[in-house]
Amino acid sequence: MQVLIAEALGFCFGVRDALEAAERTPDPGRVTIHGELVHNPVVTHRLQSKGFQQNPEAKRDELPPTPLVMITAHGISDRERHRLEKAGHQLIDTTCPLVQRVHRAAQQLADEGRYVVIIGRPGHVEVRGIHEDLADAEIVESVAAVRNYAQRRLGIVCQSTTPPRVAEAIVTAIREANPDADIRFVDTICQPTRDRQEAVVKLAPQVDAMVVVGGKNSNNTRELASLCQAQHVPAFHVESAADLNAEWFRGCRVVGLTAGTSTLDETIDEVRRQLEAL
Ligand code: SF4
Repeated sequence: MQVLIAEALGFCFGVRDALEAAERTPDPGRVTIHGELVHNPVVTHRLQSKGFQQNPEAKRDELPPTPLVMITAHGISDRERHRLEKAGHQLIDTTCPLVQRVHRAAQQLADEGRYVVIIGRPGHVEVRGIHEDLADAEIVESVAAVRNYAQRRLGIVCQSTTPPRVAEAIVTAIREANPDADIRFVDTICQPTRDRQEAVVKLAPQVDAMVVVGGKNSNNTRELASLCQAQHVPAFHVESAADLNAEWFRGCRVVGLTAGTSTLDETIDEVRRQLEAL
């Protein structure tokens, strides 16, 4: 079976920088990672074995037990930052600059007196961080959730990993549902997400099936898999080579390979080698 690799896949600079910051930390035992540094179980396990403590995403309301706290690439709200600092924690901040850009854009829209609509997944840590600092805002995940808003001035931003096709559809639906509103949309999708999505669209017509490598809780990995389905290409989402099942590829001559922004190069390589061996 031939394996074609997507032109852009795997680690983005934001994740790479966050992991390098963790590597440079001299005393991991004194550091709690506030959430998951990246949504990848292999990386999470590796960090834990180095001695890092971890505050699971669902329990971030609890104060970390160590003096040092590492903020993940997904970022946090200013409110959360103040809470941690007030409790005496020193922060190691690995927030991706492209997530900071979403925060700035949302704040600027709010300062213009606009009701802010955040296109993104409710409950996702990045989206929570953006939302928490805004007095007047809501999160919209799909076209079905769009409504007519009472406010006449609206501002729209997106979670950095939103698929461009989803953002476009939601922005169009907001404009249609609010024809009299003054609407400003700031496209805050990050370039690495855009590159990986475009690479899948380019690869899809050349393959019989696609393998998408990444954590099951990684938003951008799941979005890559759903983009394949939208291109009418069967997609198999695996976390590692061990998840591959030869039965899936019966009758396939060419298979595509892509990976989310939190997937290690070595995991992608293992999957590629195993696919080629099938
Ligand atoms: S996916 Fe985009 S926003 Fe998120 S860490 Fe990577 S580069 Fe930054």
